[in-house]
Amino acid sequence: MPTLAERSLAAVWHPCTPMKRHETEPLLAVARAQGPWLYDTQGQRYLDAISSWWVNLFGHSHPHIQAALAEQLAELDHVMLAGCTHTAVVELSEKLAALTGLGHASYGSDGASATEMALKMSVHYWCNVGLPEKNRFVGLAGGYHGETVGALSVTDVPIFRSAYAPMLRVSATVASPDARQALSGESAAEVASRAAAELAAWLQQHHAQTAALVLEPLLQCAAGMVVYDPLYLRLARALCESYRVHLIVDEIATGFGRTGSLFAYQQAGIRPDFVCLSKGLTGGTLPLSAVLTTDEVYQAFYGTDAARAFLHSHSYTGNPLACRAALATLELFEQLDTLQVNQRLAQQISSALAPLNHHPRVRHARHLGMVWAWDIETGLDDFPQRYHAAAKARGLLLRPIGKTLYCMPPYILQSEDIKHLASQMVAALEDCLRQETPPSTAV
Ligand SMILES: *Cc1c(COP(=O)(O)O)cnc(C)c1O
Repeated sequence: MPTLAERSLAAVWHPCTPMKRHETEPLLAVARAQGPWLYDTQGQRYLDAISSWWVNLFGHSHPHIQAALAEQLAELDHVMLAGCTHTAVVELSEKLAALTGLGHASYGSDGASATEMALKMSVHYWCNVGLPEKNRFVGLAGGYHGETVGALSVTDVPIFRSAYAPMLRVSATVASPDARQALSGESAAEVASRAAAELAAWLQQHHAQTAALVLEPLLQCAAGMVVYDPLYLRLARALCESYRVHLIVDEIATGFGRTGSLFAYQQAGIRPDFVCLSKGLTGGTLPLSAVLTTDEVYQAFYGTDAARAFLHSHSYTGNPLACRAALATLELFEQLDTLQVNQRLAQQISSALAPLNHHPRVRHARHLGMVWAWDIETGLDDFPQRYHAAAKARGLLLRPIGKTLYCMPPYILQSEDIKHLASQMVAALEDCLRQETPPSTAV
């Protein structure tokens, strides 16, 4: 009898990893999940220390979200949003507007489609106000906004982009305010000013053709958990204002408490022109994304002319189940006082993980909200694969990005889970470092 993993390799084209590699990196066949734990078909458990690709906030199978979904399923499973509406999408849109101060929520099914919508809206806005030449984008070095063709064109991660380059209308990139780039004695805020000066110079030259600046606020996850100072967002906001360029804030990974505030941009006290949401939006239960924008943008489309109207539809736009899961997730933030509670939880996790900060092979230990990251000095080129395997053998699901080791756990870890996370993360690192070929004094 073939195992589930074997059948999967024959039938499923898995994302992100070249398929042949799974001959040596076996799939984790997950039978069920509860709280922060995944259970494989053998009954082994693994702490989901990266929240299943950054989507899970309150652990798996949370009873509050489950109950809301069961209720919604009994009431209304799905209805098209073109010409129809329903309670879940209205309540969610009202709630998101109240939380962001932006509104007119439009929905997609995943992060990349939120990026697509924001890009299209921005360009179409400029067209509607008589500036059709403003149709290009600028992003930050290392930026990641999804992998559909439009989103990929504003993504600056070569591994995802290079094979598809001929299909893309590649955007400009300016320096990331990556705090690791501090010259000696320089603060993160000074790095941010320096990067903003580069943005200013770029915009001065190109603003007339530029529709929007697209960025991930405070934390560039896919680039390897790059952290930067909020000052950059304030400076970028002001520059966008003076050069008449939209600011699209991609909160797909950073939203919903991940960086400490509900949304990362709030730490800079700015107001974006567009906010893209997904991932944690449904607590990691169902695919859903949303784009929120200003009244000013909305008004430029408002009319009866189809050519001026925003056109972007998906079959499952505003799916009631997904919207209900999002509402239940937002209710949990209130019921559990999540942002406050996370401050204490983050302190506990930080002190448990402190040994990593002082590890001789660690550079640039960083922490923001519910994300921790460390750059590992190692000669192992396949460090991510080796670390993933070592962690898995120790009951942890972790996937380093290049030589950046990170964890991004759900918000419901108990003391025992934290102990497991910290002790096994350190032990897995030692397991990997022992696999390095020793400096060759041997014959
Ligand atoms: C994951 C991610 C996306 C893409 O979301 P998908 O649901 O994977 O399409 C876009 N932007 C950021 C910042 C992300 O982390």
